[in-house]
Amino acid sequence: MSQKTTISQKQESKSSEERPIIVKGARVHNLKNIDVKIPRNQMTVVTGVSGSGKSSLAFDTIYAEGQRRYVESLSSYARQFLERMDKPDVDFMQGISPAMAIQQKTTSSNPRSTVGTTTEIYDYMRLLYARIGHTISPKSGREVQKDSTKTVIEHLLDDFEEDTKFYVLFAIPEHEQKNLEEELNVLKEKGYPRLLNIENEQILDLTTDDINPSDIDASEYRVLVDRLILKGDEDTRTRIAGSLETAFREGNDRCSVKIRDGEELKFSERFEMDGMEFNEPTPQMFSFNNPFGACDTCEGFGKVAGIDENLVVPEPDKTIRNGAIAPFQGEKFSRHLRDFIKIAARNSLPIDTPYQDLTDEVKKILWEGKDEYVGIRPFFEDVKSQSYKVHMRVFYSRYRGYSRCPDCEGFRVRKDALYVKINDKHIGQVAEMTIGHAREFFEEIELTEFEQEVADQVLYEIRKRLKYLDEVGLSYLTLNRLAKTLSGGESQRISLANSLGSSLIGSLYVLDEPTIGLHPRDNDRLINILKSLRDIGNTVLVVEHDPEMIKAADNIIDIGPFAGIHGGEVNFTGSYDGLLESQTLTGKYLSGKKEIPVPEERRKGTGDHILLEGACENNLKMLDVEFPLGKLICVTGVSGSGKSTMVHDTLYAAVQQQLGSYNDKIGRHRKVTGINHIDSVEMVDQSPIGRSSRSNPATYTKAFDGVRDLFSSTRQSKIMGYEPGHFSFNVPGGRCETCKGEGIQTIEMQFMADIELTCEECGGKRYRKDVLQVKYRGKNIHDVLEMSVSEAIEFFVDEERITNKLQTLEDVGLGYLKLGQSAPTLSGGEAQRVKLAKFLSKPAGDHTLYFFDEPTTGLHFEDIAKLLDSFKELVDSGHTVIIIEHNLDVIKSADHIIDIGPEGGFAGGQIVGTGTPEEIANIEESHTGRYLKTVL
Ligand code: ADP
Ligand code: ADP
Ligand code: ZN
Ligand code: ZN
Repeated sequence: MSQKTTISQKQESKSSEERPIIVKGARVHNLKNIDVKIPRNQMTVVTGVSGSGKSSLAFDTIYAEGQRRYVESLSSYARQFLERMDKPDVDFMQGISPAMAIQQKTTSSNPRSTVGTTTEIYDYMRLLYARIGHTISPKSGREVQKDSTKTVIEHLLDDFEEDTKFYVLFAIPEHEQKNLEEELNVLKEKGYPRLLNIENEQILDLTTDDINPSDIDASEYRVLVDRLILKGDEDTRTRIAGSLETAFREGNDRCSVKIRDGEELKFSERFEMDGMEFNEPTPQMFSFNNPFGACDTCEGFGKVAGIDENLVVPEPDKTIRNGAIAPFQGEKFSRHLRDFIKIAARNSLPIDTPYQDLTDEVKKILWEGKDEYVGIRPFFEDVKSQSYKVHMRVFYSRYRGYSRCPDCEGFRVRKDALYVKINDKHIGQVAEMTIGHAREFFEEIELTEFEQEVADQVLYEIRKRLKYLDEVGLSYLTLNRLAKTLSGGESQRISLANSLGSSLIGSLYVLDEPTIGLHPRDNDRLINILKSLRDIGNTVLVVEHDPEMIKAADNIIDIGPFAGIHGGEVNFTGSYDGLLESQTLTGKYLSGKKEIPVPEERRKGTGDHILLEGACENNLKMLDVEFPLGKLICVTGVSGSGKSTMVHDTLYAAVQQQLGSYNDKIGRHRKVTGINHIDSVEMVDQSPIGRSSRSNPATYTKAFDGVRDLFSSTRQSKIMGYEPGHFSFNVPGGRCETCKGEGIQTIEMQFMADIELTCEECGGKRYRKDVLQVKYRGKNIHDVLEMSVSEAIEFFVDEERITNKLQTLEDVGLGYLKLGQSAPTLSGGEAQRVKLAKFLSKPAGDHTLYFFDEPTTGLHFEDIAKLLDSFKELVDSGHTVIIIEHNLDVIKSADHIIDIGPEGGFAGGQIVGTGTPEEIANIEESHTGRYLKTVL
């Protein structure tokens, strides 16, 4: 669509909206007084080596100013902090509009939030179900409908011929206080003296016939309102309607019509069926986030503390006959298995099918019981009731965990919400679908003309959102997936899809490496999404290293040339072709003048391996996988294929457990062998090195201990009586107590990110004034924290216990970090490399198994070259490195690749191929192989 629309939009309005964003004299962090111009309604990529100043420009200058302008437009409560919000250090800025940052953090704090709720899809589904859902009675499977005089007349005219004779009736009222005689008297007084015998159509007249109420069976009689003949003309209709109205009123919202010599048809103005009264659907009824709609038993979580299915059936590929049901295996309870086999024979239930392939009906019988077979759930209830016996208590605890809520069956909403269906599915069943599947469901949904009309807008909103989610490569996620279990890349892409759906225009979007977690196959789609965000009239600013993304940009700003004080300049700005010609590092790598070489040979390894067998957590399909030791191993596959599940949740967790302590959940698997060949295991992931803003690279690597000792040994300290503790900002003593040594104060804001303000007391210096008087070679403790790692190495040149620790940071390319840079301000990639540095300084000797999760996050080609050197060092000194990675330069450098997939979600979880990069490149079905071929 959009290339054209953009152009025409541009011609139409050359207003202020079209003025470029201009930044002059930016000096935030390491930026060297730079000027940049960012064209509006275009996509600009900011690139450069890690630490060169990309984020300082994109986030800390441009986005920060956008946020300030946004705060200016807010409440006076928010505005009062404006003066104290750090204004980016810049001379002049123009053309900044309210800015949206799409970062990788998961921000959801509601534990019930799901993909469906955070994208609003579930909210629209609630509306849809309330408007056009059909309530189906669980007893008869018939639709519950409310009758009215109008629908009754339509029904009669549809089903019966003209001139059919019929009676309009209501049941004899029953009140608690009255006996039948009194009821009949009331009817007589009200003017309804005639009763119809529903069997033989005889009429009793209460005024003339001599009746003894004790001779009457009230259930055989109805009160007669009118005798009529069916016709379609207006007059007759009016008369029928009048009688029906009376009958409904006197019959307490219910009435009946008896066809002469025919059946009795019952009608009700209430929402009822099969003797059950139902609630008419409302949007609230489907909400598991509020007490009205949430299932009472599980409070909307879908799970209750109880028996864990995964523990009861630890190996779902086993059949029932072969012992899938673990608790029925022992001598003691095996009779339950025999009972099941008996009823299975009678009801032809499969007992030789793997548990995982059983239908929901069979599983239900297995769990709930039938005839003489007790059922797993009632069985455990019985066990629990006997927990005064020690062995029963112990037995029970072996299977305890979380299980599907028995009341809502895990669908989280109140039971009657699940009676409401659209195209045969209730809202919980739709929420269980993957985005891809739900998209099909809503595309193909069959509606009547009337439904179409009421649902049109709602369906449009749902379809639009599903389409965007699919396009950002998330089709494998289910709508009910908990938001807190998503990876950073996944939640960032959800925010991206949300922005597209919100159709805000004229905004500035700032994104932080959106390709994280994406396989090269899915990059194209992501790029197209960003282009459409631009084409609907937004300015898109992306911090990114991915070559495809750089190529797709309208405009590129290359910051560099190196990190920290050696960077912070604009090396290039312009088009992709211009960048290729340029002599910047990025230009050289992209044009092939510089490249990361393919290793000449692949390591042979030690010959030993770790074997993971029967891995079946999430989407993994009973995988048996070998991890050869002494090699650099890469696990590859599209997003959602199962890499993290296999490597992080299963292998790492299991190895951890065998080597010592790990009490978190471990992915399901049969066994892991070969652990005797290794001595330890380390996970080097992107989680922060500390949550407190008081931890930093100096404290994490322990270099700061040496610094504090040094300061406390100065003459000045001796005179004042300062101990090393006075130079700590973690404990009271020397630190500023107003900010507790953080140098900043955080103000929580509603509806937007927290605002951080410099501490007024210490001016951000973190220490008391008198402590800051203490100098070592002319610098106080705060000055030291402001030094970069490289500067500190020079400054403390004679203090080996400090420089040793700092040197490893320098070696992994983090020389530009400030010693005191607080842990939360480190990017995921930086945090990961700080950890790596710590491991590189570990004495060699033992055999460690290292795990890395996308270590190239935040890294430029040049940084990746350095990172590969670190891996080389680890493997060459006898360790094994397992990396989850999408970056082709890393993948091609591996000794061994394990490619899983082929797709994400259910269509993934299988081994597509294993072997050297050359071998994988020759596998047709491998998405990774296809891309690998181009770089080998
Ligand atoms: P990039 O985004 O290119 O990796 P950054 O803009 O994050 O680089 O960093 C540029 C320089 O500014 C680095 O030397 C970094 O250590 C420094 N820096 C980044 N954030 C902060 C901060 N919050 N406080 C002090 N220095 C910072
Ligand atoms: P990858 O690491 O290859 O991107 P994952 O291992 O994260 O893939 O995911 C594999 C599959 O398991 C996907 O369908 C994903 O949605 C699902 N999955 C991952 N984590 C969870 C979880 N905590 N709960 C439910 N499903 C999950
Ligand atoms: Zn429940
Ligand atoms: Zn302070």
